[in-house]
Amino acid sequence: MIDVDSLRVRFGSNEVVKGVSFHVPVGGSFGIVGESGSGKSTVLRAISGLNAEWSGRIVIEGETMKPRRDRAFFRKVQMVFQDPYGSLHPRQTIDRILSEPLLVHGIGEIEARIEKVLAEVALPSTVRFRYPHQLSGGQRQRVAIARALIAEPEILLLDEPTSALDVSVQAEILNLLADLRETRRLTYVLVSHNLAVVTHLCPQVGVMIGGEMVEQLSAEDLRAGRIHHPHTSQLRALS
Ligand code: ATP
Ligand code: MG
Repeated sequence: MIDVDSLRVRFGSNEVVKGVSFHVPVGGSFGIVGESGSGKSTVLRAISGLNAEWSGRIVIEGETMKPRRDRAFFRKVQMVFQDPYGSLHPRQTIDRILSEPLLVHGIGEIEARIEKVLAEVALPSTVRFRYPHQLSGGQRQRVAIARALIAEPEILLLDEPTSALDVSVQAEILNLLADLRETRRLTYVLVSHNLAVVTHLCPQVGVMIGGEMVEQLSAEDLRAGRIHHPHTSQLRALS
C-alpha cells in the first residue's frame, strides 16, 4: 500500500512537484502519465528514497516515511529504470549483479535465489556468467527486473520500463510484469509516456502537468478519451 499526500519537491527555488496525492492499494498498480518535465520521475524518486528533499506525507505499508531511509526500507521498495544499460554495471557478470542486493541485505542462499529469480523472469541460468553487453535489450531489462526482485521487495517503482525496447519486446516485458504482480503480490507505480503501456498494467492513472497531478481517472476512461482536464490536447500528444 502506498499513500502519497501533498507531496512537494523543489530543486533550489524551482518547485517541480506541487502537492501531488494518490493512493495505491496492496497488489494494485497506479500509472502516472504526463509530458516530459512534468515531474513524474521526481515523484518516483521521492517515494524510492533517492531524493531526500521533499515535503508532504508518504506512507508505505502503514509506515510514514522520513526523507532519510534505512536499509530495511530499501529492501522493501525497488526501482526499475528505462535503460538497463545505464543501471547495470558493465564490468560485472549477471551473477555478480544479482548477488549484490543479497550481500547488502545479508540474505543467504545466494545460488538458489539467483536460479529462482532467473527462472521467474524467464532467463536461462547460462546468462549468469555473461556481462550486460552480451545480452539483448529485452534480456537486460529482465536482469534489471530480477535484480529489483531478488531481495523480495513489496513495491516496484517502474520508470519507463519498456521505452527503450522495441514493440514486440515491450509486450513481453509488460506481460512479465503483470505475471510477477500476481505471483509476488507486488504493488506498482508505473511511469510512462505511452498510454497503451500504462493502461495495460494500471487500472488507475494520474495525469501530471507542470508538477501537478491534474486528474486521476480509470484506464477505461483514459483509453476512451474521457478526460476532464482542459489540457487534454497535451495528453493526446502523448499517445
Ligand atoms: P521525462 O518524461 O522527460 O522523464 P519527467 O516527468 O520524469 O520527464 P522529471 O525528471 O521529474 O520529469 O523532472 C521534472 C523537472 O525537475 C524538470 O524540469 C527537471 O529539469 C527538474 N529536475 C529533475 N531532477 C533535478 C535535479 N536533480 N536538479 C534540478 N532539477 C531537476
Ligand atoms: Mg522521467
